[in-house]
Amino acid sequence: MSSPVWREEVPLAPMTSWRIGGPARAFCEPRTPEELLAVRRKAERLRLPVFLLGGGTNLLIADHGYPGLVVRYADRSRDLQSHGESASVRVGARAPLAGLARSTARAGWRGLEWAEGIPGSVAGAVVGNAGAYGGTIAERIERVEIVQPDGTAETWEPERMRYAYRSSILKGRDPTGPAVVAAWFRLDADDPVRLEEEIGRIAAQRRAKTPVGASCGSVFRNPPGDAAGRLIEAAGCKEMREGGAVVSALHANYIVNEGEATARDVRRLIDRIRERVRSVHAIELDLEIQLVGFGPAGARPDAPSGSL
Ligand SMILES: Cc1cc2nc3c(=O)[nH]c(=O)nc-3n(C[C@H](O)[C@H](O)[C@H](O)COP(=O)(O)OP(=O)(O)OC[C@H]3O[C@@H](n4cnc5c(N)ncnc54)[C@H](O)[C@@H]3O)c2cc1C
Repeated sequence: MSSPVWREEVPLAPMTSWRIGGPARAFCEPRTPEELLAVRRKAERLRLPVFLLGGGTNLLIADHGYPGLVVRYADRSRDLQSHGESASVRVGARAPLAGLARSTARAGWRGLEWAEGIPGSVAGAVVGNAGAYGGTIAERIERVEIVQPDGTAETWEPERMRYAYRSSILKGRDPTGPAVVAAWFRLDADDPVRLEEEIGRIAAQRRAKTPVGASCGSVFRNPPGDAAGRLIEAAGCKEMREGGAVVSALHANYIVNEGEATARDVRRLIDRIRERVRSVHAIELDLEIQLVGFGPAGARPDAPSGSL
């Protein structure tokens, strides 16, 4: 069984859109289910926890990093099968979602235009049920290829993903659990010129609404019937700051790293925003982003110290 390069103390900040976070104790980029199994077995032998990373655009990594193995599945392959007026496209976990949206639109296939401008990988989007401008992953997913920690390959129907607003059965669960290795999407034939225009419209709207600078998109989930950004703005949090982290003046649900922000700064700012929104609106905001390497799972109880 082949094994990908195993690297140690690898900086994770450059692999995240926030540009924040310490190193991974170990880091690997398997390209096949067999390589994935090989690195998971090695992590098990070394008693290291495993975290599955995508594009790093929906998470905050602790300043001390992750005390285990970070796996970024490397398959970016794409295979489209046309059935006349419809098509199925199979995409590797690491393929960029927005790139997929653009290339399928250009080829005259409708279904993913709404994903223009959503950074990150197909796997991250499939896990988090990414969505925008009226579209979501859940509406277009046909099936998900999964590899269990013991190497068992499975194909999941959408129902098994238990999709809901920005969530699925895989979101935020035991990170050593099932890995997404590929996903299939259902597309419909349409006029490529019209689809490209639609993509252009969405890109322009995003440019106007997205703050410049390193961020993680929306930090908090929208509570039922309201928008987290509106609540945060109305609570007077715009431009609130902790160290190098600041609440965007353009979109109050974004926290921007002005260059030197730490995870500690961001967490403090998150706590202050929550407190303010609670006291002004009596609403508890839930995080949309995921915290990685914090809390009990972030401790190094079993991991052997020193060189692996
Ligand atoms: C500027 C900006 C704008 C954004 N706009 C939007 C938006 O409009 N709509 C929206 O929904 N989101 C938006 N986001 C958030 C983010 O881009 C999406 O949530 C994206 O789908 C996350 O994908 P990722 O690959 O970066 O996942 P990551 O952040 O790397 O990971 C997210 C989760 O997926 C899990 N995961 C990753 N890979 C695998 C795998 N192979 N197998 C199993 N689990 C895996 C991780 O463990 C983690 O739990 C925005 C972010 C930014 C920075």
